[in-house]
Amino acid sequence: MTLPTELVPLLQALVRIPSPNPPGDTRDVAAFIADWMRAITLGAEVTTPAPEDKPEAVSVIATIGKGHPIVLVHAHIDTVPIAQQEARRWSVDPYAAEIRANRVYGKGSVDDKAPLAAMMIAFVEAAQKGISGTLVLVAAAEEEVGGQLGTKWLADNGNLPAADFFIIGEQTHNHAAIAHKGVIRAEIRATGRAAHATNPDRGINAITAMAKVVLALEQYHASLRDRVHPLIGTATCNVGVIHGGSTFNAVPDTCTILVDRRMIPHDDPAEVQDELRAIVARVAAEVAPAELTIGEFLVSGWFSSTLDSALGQTFLDCIRAELDESPGPIGYLPGSDAKHVQDLAAQSGGEIVVFGPGSYEVAHAFDEYVDIDELQETINILRRFLNETLALKGDEG
Ligand SMILES: [Zn+2]
Repeated sequence: MTLPTELVPLLQALVRIPSPNPPGDTRDVAAFIADWMRAITLGAEVTTPAPEDKPEAVSVIATIGKGHPIVLVHAHIDTVPIAQQEARRWSVDPYAAEIRANRVYGKGSVDDKAPLAAMMIAFVEAAQKGISGTLVLVAAAEEEVGGQLGTKWLADNGNLPAADFFIIGEQTHNHAAIAHKGVIRAEIRATGRAAHATNPDRGINAITAMAKVVLALEQYHASLRDRVHPLIGTATCNVGVIHGGSTFNAVPDTCTILVDRRMIPHDDPAEVQDELRAIVARVAAEVAPAELTIGEFLVSGWFSSTLDSALGQTFLDCIRAELDESPGPIGYLPGSDAKHVQDLAAQSGGEIVVFGPGSYEVAHAFDEYVDIDELQETINILRRFLNETLALKGDEG
C-alpha cells in the first residue's frame, strides 16, 4: 500500500480507519500512524505505548531532534461513537471520508484527525529540513472518555517530555485557546419511606425532599454568577436528570438526581465538592427524617495557560500572519487533553495552546466535516511556527 503524503489524502486515510470510543480500540489507527511515521520520517524515534489496564488503547509518540526548545504537538485518535439515531441522519458514509463542496466528511474528520493530519505532515517536513531543538508528536488514545488511560497515563508514566510549548489539536477555528472549564459530576440520593397514597402522612416522600435539594442547587447556581473567567464565562451548576417514584398511588421512597458542576480555571475541586456536600447537609437537616446522600464525585479538571513566552507570542504572530485577524487568546468551551499536560508544562515553565480547524459544534454531530481551506490554514500556521522556532540556524545545517 502506498502511503498518502498529501494533507487531504492523509486525512481521508485516517478517517477510513474507525476508532470509536467506546470501545476505544485504537490499535489499527495507531499502527497506521506508527508505520507512516517510520516510513516517511527518517530518523524519528517512534513508540506505541498502551496502558496495562487497557492494552487496546494504543497511542503513538514520535520524536526528532534533541535539546531545547521542546515543542510537543498533540491530537487524539479516538472519536465519539456513532449513536443509532445519529447513524440515520448521516447523508454520507461516516467512514468513507467523502469530499463534497471542499469539505472532507466523516466521523473524526474534524475531531480530531484533521489537526492530526496537519501535525503529521508538518512534523515530517520539519524532520526533512532538520531542526534545532526537539519536536514530539503525540497521537493519543482515550480523549473522548476523559483521557485517564490516554494522555494522563502517558504523562504520569514518563512517556511525555516537559515541553516548552504544547499544541493540543482541537476545534478552535485556528485561533489560540488557553482555557477551558472543568467539571464535577455527582449523584444525590434521597431516601424516604413508602406508604399508600391514600395516607401519605404515614410515609416519607423522597421526591419532596429532593425538590428542596433541586431548589437549593438552583440558588447555588445563581450564586456562582460572580465567579467569572474572562475567556470562558462563569462557573455553573445544573441538575440534568431526576428519577423517583414508581406509581400514582404510593409515596416514593427514593429519588436521585445527577448534578453537573462546571468549574472555571483555579476553582479547587476539593472546595467545590465541599460546597456541594454542605448544600446537601443543610437540606438534609430540613427534610429529616428523609435522608440525603451525595455519591462518588467524578472530576475532570479545567485547563488554563498563558501565551506570554517568546514561543507563545510567536504562535500568536503565526496565526495573525495566516488569518489576517486577531489570533486570540480565546476560551474553548468543551474539555480537552490540555488539562493532562498542565503539570508537565508547570515543570518546564512551558505554555499550552489548544488549536485546530473547525468548530466543536460540528465535532460530535452527524455529517461531521472539516473545511479543506481551513485545514490548509492549520498546516500553514504549524509550518510557520515550527520554522520560526525550530529551524536550523545557517551554519548548523
Ligand atoms: Zn476532540
